[in-house]
Amino acid sequence: MKVLALLLLLVVSALGKRVFNGDQVLRVHLEAEEQVQVLQALENEQAWDVDFWLHPVSVGRPVEVRVGQASLSGVKDYLQTHNIRFFVIINDLQELLDEQEAEMKESEALQRSGSEYNFGSYQRLEAIYNWMDTLVAENPKLVTKVLIGSSYENRPMYVLKFSTGGTNRPAIWIDTGIHAREWVSPATGVWTANKIAVDYGKDASLTSLLNTMDIYMLLLANPDGYSYTHDNDRMWRKTRSRSPGSSCRGADPNRNWDSGFGGPGTSGNPCSDLYRGPSANSEVEVSNVVNLIKAHGNFKSFISVHAYSQLLMYPHGYTCKDIPDMAELDTVGQAAVKKLASLYGTRYEVGSICKIIYPASGGSIDWAYDTGIKYSFAFELRDTGLSGFLLPANQIIPTASETWLALKHIMEYVRDNPYYTQH
Ligand SMILES: [Zn+2]
Repeated sequence: MKVLALLLLLVVSALGKRVFNGDQVLRVHLEAEEQVQVLQALENEQAWDVDFWLHPVSVGRPVEVRVGQASLSGVKDYLQTHNIRFFVIINDLQELLDEQEAEMKESEALQRSGSEYNFGSYQRLEAIYNWMDTLVAENPKLVTKVLIGSSYENRPMYVLKFSTGGTNRPAIWIDTGIHAREWVSPATGVWTANKIAVDYGKDASLTSLLNTMDIYMLLLANPDGYSYTHDNDRMWRKTRSRSPGSSCRGADPNRNWDSGFGGPGTSGNPCSDLYRGPSANSEVEVSNVVNLIKAHGNFKSFISVHAYSQLLMYPHGYTCKDIPDMAELDTVGQAAVKKLASLYGTRYEVGSICKIIYPASGGSIDWAYDTGIKYSFAFELRDTGLSGFLLPANQIIPTASETWLALKHIMEYVRDNPYYTQH
């Protein structure tokens, strides 16, 4: 009986979950402009199973690409033919995924047996939602849970609101997990939410901040995608909405905002990972946030947390033209990453999305900035490409701890600039 159950489990997991046996992740070094074009051509090559974790943008910028086992020799030949240097950074993706899943299951078993929530482990949506209830129950005077709507697949979307009173105080927005596979982002969000609750009343600066401002945190900005990365495909990035006329699902929720929608760095192809959706705000996960921010009307800072690359970015993504507030946001950003580095020496770059990585249109912080929320930033957390989306769980707490120093710097800066000059 036990054997049968086990067999059944194996069959279900074999059917239900995407496997990456023998897939490799390559890091490619681009040394000349024509090599950039060669890689861009590879990216558009439908015949090969390639998934760019870091897109080919310019000479000197690293490129990382998962290559399916069946396409490996073809892709490697292609790179060698063009004299492009590459290294294998993940030798067998499935092996690494299996290791990390075993680790996660161990932590889940401990939690089920009564241990406390493990902030140093990746967690499923249900565990994160349960933990949110605990946080609210233990901090009733500080934290409330606000339902902002449901996802495409009808999962509730909750925002944690940290507030010590007042009505419609100036507020700071932090979202994590908008891209499903960037697991360290929501893990950092959970740690951060807990940190705010623990430090309130103890940390004088945070306490003064919360005595005049509210903090809103959306820990799982893409709940369907996040669940999908646990149950079906660890490498999923997008939402899970259906597109009429296509069997491919989901839109990139960070190309779907109403700012430069449809511009460079997006795709009109529903099968692309950069598919922008049929129209701005078509993704309910995006429109739920837009509605809340607009109805509130008093957000002063909007921070969106991604992974990976170790960057702190400000608008715009849809154009490389400098924003009017560039000098100020750059100064704030530089000071924030200096504080971040003070903990473990982790180095971040600061710049506009367009200049520091690539043009990307319809992004959340562009929308926030264009809506009048001046202090709009996006983080790309650890690492710079050794583990990529599969950052080991033992780096969650160090990542969150250092990021907290940067977040706090931004929030304090916003608090200390109460006139919030509009651009
Ligand atoms: Zn992202």
